[in-house]
Amino acid sequence: MTDTPNPEPTFTTRAEIAASNAPTCIECGSRAFLTDGRAIYPHRPDLYRKRFWLCQCGAYCGCHHGTSDALGYPCGPETRKARSAAHAAFDPLWRSGKMQRGQAYRWLSQATGVSFDQCHIGMMTAEQARSVCQSVAAYLKEQSSHA
Ligand SMILES: [Zn+2]
Repeated sequence: MTDTPNPEPTFTTRAEIAASNAPTCIECGSRAFLTDGRAIYPHRPDLYRKRFWLCQCGAYCGCHHGTSDALGYPCGPETRKARSAAHAAFDPLWRSGKMQRGQAYRWLSQATGVSFDQCHIGMMTAEQARSVCQSVAAYLKEQSSHA
């Protein structure tokens, strides 16, 4: 890298360098580039050393601990909000003991039509996450009508 004509890394060249394992943004379909916590959470110095994949649209995701392997795919605020609502609706199903955790995820896979291997709320699109809330609401309604 000593004879690089343009030593100043531009957005494009950084994205190209990282492209080997760069995840694709679920919001805009662009390839993300690797960055660190300073770019994502400037007010959280404790996260500065963590790696993140950031998209040009502002969507991002974290990495598996100690690697640059993306945790899912970069997503934006709307998806993040929909996922946290999905967790808030879904987690009580197994936390409360209504279902066992594995059973709850099998149910979730059937209810959303997302294959069991891929059925993680953290990897869902906003639309899928919203369908989790609807499915849980329908399930609880059905349960209460049988009670
Ligand atoms: Zn994007």
